[in-house]
Amino acid sequence: MATLNTTEAVQKAVQAQSIVDIHTHLYPAAMGPLFLGGPDELVTYHYLKAETSRQLPSDITVEAFNNMPTDKQADVIWSTLFVGDSSPISEAQVGVVTVMSTLGLNPRSDSLYEFRTLYKDHTPESYTDLVFEKSGVGTVYMTNDPLEDVEGGYWNDGFDLDPRFRAVLRLDSALMNWPAPVEKLKAAGYDVETSLSHQTFSEIRRYLSDWVKKMDARYMAISLPPDFTYPSEESTSTLMKECVYPTADELDIPSAMMVGVTRQVNPVLKDGGDSLGSWDITNLERIARDWPNVTFLTTILSREDQHELCVTARKFPNVLPFGCWWFLNNPSVIQEMTQERLELLGTSFIPQHSDARILDQLLYKWTHSIRTIAPVLAQKYDDLQNAGWPLSESDIARDIGRFFGGGRVLA
Ligand SMILES: [Zn+2]
Repeated sequence: MATLNTTEAVQKAVQAQSIVDIHTHLYPAAMGPLFLGGPDELVTYHYLKAETSRQLPSDITVEAFNNMPTDKQADVIWSTLFVGDSSPISEAQVGVVTVMSTLGLNPRSDSLYEFRTLYKDHTPESYTDLVFEKSGVGTVYMTNDPLEDVEGGYWNDGFDLDPRFRAVLRLDSALMNWPAPVEKLKAAGYDVETSLSHQTFSEIRRYLSDWVKKMDARYMAISLPPDFTYPSEESTSTLMKECVYPTADELDIPSAMMVGVTRQVNPVLKDGGDSLGSWDITNLERIARDWPNVTFLTTILSREDQHELCVTARKFPNVLPFGCWWFLNNPSVIQEMTQERLELLGTSFIPQHSDARILDQLLYKWTHSIRTIAPVLAQKYDDLQNAGWPLSESDIARDIGRFFGGGRVLA
């Protein structure tokens, strides 16, 4: 068999693959105000707000900036980061450039006028079609919270769900900072108590099970701080143990844990003010050991924890690492993490998710990630060929299908 050009074969397979994006914060057009797209939302995303705060013009304080309406904030960000006296080279900034180029716009424009005009010519539905087509994404998993007022309204009243969008039950507002969620759960018809009693556990299990079924949620997800311990007397940990893991087991759906966020280290930056910390992964070992029948979709925010996560996944088949999350979603780190995961886990991980909150972000997050991941895969296939393995294009297409098509559990 002739030696395969792996770079070309990987490229071809990736282009043919309809991407399943297993974690986003996107909403379909039918969910009205929850749908976010277009230049003003894209440019005022908190990554870019945080970056702008480092070089705001001296006559604008961060507080004054925060009080501006969205379109004015977008104008300030545009003139500071993209028209200003430096090149837009951070990952989030290059991302905006990629989005605009992909849409046929001039990213070196003095204003957002052209982009705003293009966006106004679309409906949310037609813009969704455009972005899905140009990004190569076929399916996105959402992050759904029925206890949130606006979103809960849609789920309770019913709406036509675009089949490209799949539901995921987000747990944060129902479980974190107990007893803060008590009132909302009671209002939703679940008779929980402020104490972590048997009644509270059984009512939360009923809430989880009802909503997984109602939304056809494909998994349950929570983001956790780096000091999350298991087992523990702490309320979130107790609720995970008594309610979430048993429900995941019973309904046979994954439990996703995104671990390592420290909230609001700099509150003046609002959504941009969160940071990260390292997690003690012996906690994950104990969770995976106690719940062998539950698949734990796991992503961890600290770069320092990535190698250990791979080793833990080798020891526990029910631990499924996914994505390069948030501060890790940068080419240098994606390259390192993907190499590490391929070497330790073969094909048994999900290399990336977009975490997009603004529809337009799909246009850069996937092109950027694939630009980094494809050469890493091609190199690994070269190693395999050099070792004497006759490789075919269809072998590569099958693997790419697993990597970018939702893996074994979310295809
Ligand atoms: Zn997320």
